[in-house]
Amino acid sequence: MVELTKPRERGRMAEPDLLVSKAFIGGEWVGTVAAPIEVDDPFTQDVFAEVASVGREQTQAAVDAAERALPGWASKTATERGRVLRRWRDNLIEHKDDLAALITRENGKTFAEARGEVDYGAGYIEFYAEEAHRARGETIPPPAPGRRLVVEREPVGVCAAITPWNFPLALLARKVGPALAAGCTMVAKPSELTPLTALAFARLGEQAGVPKGVFSVVTGEARPIGDVLTASPVVRKLSFTGSTAVGAALAAACAPTVKRLSLELGGNAPLIVFDDADVDTAVETALVAKFRNGGQSCIAANRIYVQRGVLDRFVSAFAARIGAMTAGDGFDPASDIGPMIDDRTLLKVDRHREDALARGARCIVGGASPGGRLSIPTLLADAPADALFTREETFGPLAAVVAFSSVEEAIRLANDTPYGLAAYLCSSDPATIDRVSRRLETGTVGINTGAVATPLAPVGGVKLSGLGREGSAHGLAEYQNLKYLCHAGL
Ligand code: NAP
Repeated sequence: MVELTKPRERGRMAEPDLLVSKAFIGGEWVGTVAAPIEVDDPFTQDVFAEVASVGREQTQAAVDAAERALPGWASKTATERGRVLRRWRDNLIEHKDDLAALITRENGKTFAEARGEVDYGAGYIEFYAEEAHRARGETIPPPAPGRRLVVEREPVGVCAAITPWNFPLALLARKVGPALAAGCTMVAKPSELTPLTALAFARLGEQAGVPKGVFSVVTGEARPIGDVLTASPVVRKLSFTGSTAVGAALAAACAPTVKRLSLELGGNAPLIVFDDADVDTAVETALVAKFRNGGQSCIAANRIYVQRGVLDRFVSAFAARIGAMTAGDGFDPASDIGPMIDDRTLLKVDRHREDALARGARCIVGGASPGGRLSIPTLLADAPADALFTREETFGPLAAVVAFSSVEEAIRLANDTPYGLAAYLCSSDPATIDRVSRRLETGTVGINTGAVATPLAPVGGVKLSGLGREGSAHGLAEYQNLKYLCHAGL
């Protein structure tokens, strides 16, 4: 067990046992085999915990354990699997504040947002506890008498999950829920920036009765762990959430063993505000879509296109709200956003702001980073359509507005990206909403809302934003193979 450096001041936990420093492999807690991972607090920048770093051998042990556990788990009834998942969900909710404290401590997001993430992640476990029952097959009218054609759903088998730091609990839960509900077993590798949340999640699963080997968490250097998971012929699926570059490399590494893939990759979401939009709704949409998790979200509105007729009203109302926001310690209730996860992310926000300003944008509120890892909520107007932020994900609290004139121009600008994860549009005209939402090349469209995330709906990308869907019945199907049974001589 590790000690928080200043547990009383920052993120005191009711159950200190949830601060786990060991990897969870085949139902055993395994200590470090290399220099441990130093987990820092993005606000204080102090290292406050050390977590086990394991390598190839331990990852292989986790895969072996998942293989051994598979027949027993897959042969349980959906009701039995659902009961375990349900207990896990209840444990997550019961320990919401402790989990949120860990998330805020290692990720930096505000405690209120971290509590919301626990609810959101637990919602996936809850949904799939139920959805396990609805994994129905099919019978097909036969092409000839005496035959019966049946389609059954089988678990894919041993699965691997690799997850990022920005939603360390929810993005793991939305893989684990459907995998375990389908009867698969799973080995997960969380980001080394945020391993503690995943380990606490695993401990609560262990306490819920997840059998040994059904779920393991390997923490350590990404490359050796990824090499074992992608090369193993036993691992039949990889579900990855993270950057497009890493996702594409992992997909290539999975090719020789022809694994199933779910890739939830980078986004570069446009938000389009049309002249007929309700300005208050548009501002609310933009605030949620842009500033969730301090802008460090794959579905963050990265490019804000506003039609000229509503431009001034939108910019001034948006500026008033952004100007009232505070960046600070995630544990301070007065903070609207926490610090950036690391210096690289902070510097990228600065680079995007300076680039847009150099190309003629005007800073309306906010500006340069004040120090530490804080980035101030900032609004730029008159940004050009070719600024750097329109090409790359900013992943920070920089909102930059580009003006447009016609609906066709907005659609062209919105689709002028190799990414296709999410888009948002604000309009009160059903014809515009219909026309534009159908033509946006994305997996999700938020219409007059920035709050689109729910376990009930399928999310995922098109183009370079990925393959497959998470959430809803479609998310369960990602962990199932269809088997066609052809009975003759009946
Ligand atoms: P990242 O660098 O791709 O890392 C994601 C995960 O992959 C981390 O666990 C990382 O481990 C691991 N990883 C990196 N290189 C690896 C390798 N060679 N082998 C195996 N694993 C490897 O992404 P990030 O910067 O953490 O996350 C931000 C990106 O994720 C953004 O592009 C964002 O849009 C995207 N994202 C997408 C979604 C979605 O649903 N589509 C959701 C959230 C985020 P370490 O951290 O330990 O290096």
